[in-house]
Amino acid sequence: MELSQRDITYCKNVGAKRADILRSELGVRTAMDMVRQYPYKYIDRSRFYRIAELDDEDTYVQIIGEVTEWHTIGIGKAKRLSATFFDGTHQCELVWFKGVQYVKLQRGVKYLLFGKPSRFQHVFNFVHPELTPWSKVTPEMTQGLEPYYNTTEKMKRANLNSKAVRSIIAELMPELKAGVPDTIGADVLQRYRLMSLTEALANVHFPRDTQYMQNARARLKFEELFYIQLQILRTMKRREQNPGYGMPAVGRRFHALYRSLPFPLTEAQKRVIREIHEDMKSGRQMNRLLQGDVGSGKTLVALLCCLLAVDNGYQACIMAPTEILANQHYETLKAFLAPLGDAVHVALLTGSTSAKNRAPIHDGLINGTIHILIGTHALLEDNVQWQNLGFVVIDEQHRFGVAQRAKLWTKSRRVAQDGDGYAMPGCPPHILVMTATPIPRTLAMTVYGDLQVSVIDELPPGRKPVQTVHYSLQRRAQVYSFVRKQIQEGRQVYVVFPLIKENEKLDLQDLQNGFNELCEAFPEYRISMVHGQMKASDKDLQMQRFASGETQILVATTVIEVGVNVPNATVMIIQNAERFGLSQLHQLRGRVGRGGDQSYCLLLTRNELTADTRKRMDIMVATNDGFRIAEADLQLRGPGDLEGTLQSGTPFDLHIANLATDSQLLTLARQAAMDILDQDPLLEDERNRIYKRQLDFLRISQSYNWGEIS
Ligand code: ADP
Ligand code: MG
Repeated sequence: MELSQRDITYCKNVGAKRADILRSELGVRTAMDMVRQYPYKYIDRSRFYRIAELDDEDTYVQIIGEVTEWHTIGIGKAKRLSATFFDGTHQCELVWFKGVQYVKLQRGVKYLLFGKPSRFQHVFNFVHPELTPWSKVTPEMTQGLEPYYNTTEKMKRANLNSKAVRSIIAELMPELKAGVPDTIGADVLQRYRLMSLTEALANVHFPRDTQYMQNARARLKFEELFYIQLQILRTMKRREQNPGYGMPAVGRRFHALYRSLPFPLTEAQKRVIREIHEDMKSGRQMNRLLQGDVGSGKTLVALLCCLLAVDNGYQACIMAPTEILANQHYETLKAFLAPLGDAVHVALLTGSTSAKNRAPIHDGLINGTIHILIGTHALLEDNVQWQNLGFVVIDEQHRFGVAQRAKLWTKSRRVAQDGDGYAMPGCPPHILVMTATPIPRTLAMTVYGDLQVSVIDELPPGRKPVQTVHYSLQRRAQVYSFVRKQIQEGRQVYVVFPLIKENEKLDLQDLQNGFNELCEAFPEYRISMVHGQMKASDKDLQMQRFASGETQILVATTVIEVGVNVPNATVMIIQNAERFGLSQLHQLRGRVGRGGDQSYCLLLTRNELTADTRKRMDIMVATNDGFRIAEADLQLRGPGDLEGTLQSGTPFDLHIANLATDSQLLTLARQAAMDILDQDPLLEDERNRIYKRQLDFLRISQSYNWGEIS
């Protein structure tokens, strides 16, 4: 029977109880599922260490030697066995405090010690090491790379530790080696020089040597990335078949705004507007991602594109992640559109729009008098109906995920269809997604892999790069005198406090204390404060006071992180900067440097910092380039750990590939998937059956949540 048909229950060393646990903890149902559980690390058992060589505290080592002395301390449950181990030149300490009665030690016997050392007052010690008399050491025990498997608490309680997992998998090896059907065609394997699935699975668990292990892992990573790309690109190809509203005209409103702008567009802005307009006239639905660093002028691009739609007789909307941002977009757009008089009617709809104010908006959307609607998630409510919504901008905070996007996809389609018999019923609107911050290429290819990409790779001229300085919190006095100087020159200042989600009350307390402290330090100035717990109207009021220059200092939490635009503000002070991720710091810094004046970002941290935090601060000081920062963020934190897009946004659980380190493999995998789909977009060819079948299989197997993105 094929491994994929064999119930895990009946595999050796398993049984009903363990099978239940494997199913609920790992989603393992079949023998094949089991061999698809890859080791997370290997320990080289062919290498023997000397005690003098130990320095790394975190990896397993094995040492040959003898036990020279031991004694027990304490009684009953607190009983502890402590022994001295000697390798001929140096000694270390062994400690047991569980199952002490089972540990039998003998003097003058050669042992193989295996365990993880830790250092305590210059002496290395091993807690609960494996100690095997040399006479019982089999050749297999000291051969090659030993695989280690992730386990859960529940598994451990059922004695399903890494060793047990290893032995279950080891029992399956003979059948596996007899050969399993491959999931990748022979031509692709050959072109990319990849191992067969059989060989890769055998070597990922019990590698012949390091080279084989690496090749096995590369093959399995490729496979994982390949199927993700195949799925994403198939979605994209399907969507490319969607009809879209044709919007060929460049009309009077667009021209009027273009002419009234106080500055010329950058070349990059012009280019992306052309790219977007190409899509809008193509007769197909646009699905495009607009990337650009903080301050590159994405909002204006979005507005001009909305006007293209409006000039062609369609409505447009801009969806923002927060109310502050929606309000601000509204104000910004109204300011830009002021010279056009009443040629463009813009409305704002958020969670705090009153019922009374909603009615006219709902009417205006249905009868077409509102051209552009700006808002938050409130735009998705069922009672928001349009006459002919043709263009949707999603101004995306980095924590706004694929799943939410997908909701809007269907929602807008339904909106279009529900618009009883208007223009082209059934046409989904064009979609433009704007990222708030640059994202690394590998992420763009997975999280946004189904979108066409436009990049604004140029900032408006005359911007002075923000100068970033890292201070320890103790140098507050110096920071304050700098702030005072800037305010005396007419500038304004942000002071941002971190949110530590576990305890909102304490957070607010921190913020309030900070606010009080600043009030004391700057009695001659006025200070605003905003945070997420405030009523929206109070927030607006405080923001407006700051934006109008009535207050000089704005104390805030990260609610101001994305999009807020007050060009006269030149100083961004980030308190406890160590608590923020890189992309967040970059976003916050992007709030200054928006006018013609030199701006500054002061990162205040504790004195002692972890190595990672220090690196984050150093990167911030060293560069203003959002793309470089995004890459560094991915490297430092690893993809699973990145805030935002990744947690809520990636519908793909990666089991073996790593977006931070496998970008080359990802590029190849995407290319391979693209080649196949270029020939056969719907995977209908007989020779591509293997791919279609595997995609279906992956979709129903629970570890993938692909339904959400199509
Ligand atoms: P982003 O959303 O990309 O971070 P914004 O759209 O908020 O950036 O633009 C930042 C600032 O730059 C705004 O004040 C905007 O009016 C201004 N701006 C946009 N395009 C240009 C340009 N071509 N020249 C000068 N200033 C521009
Ligand atoms: Mg913006």
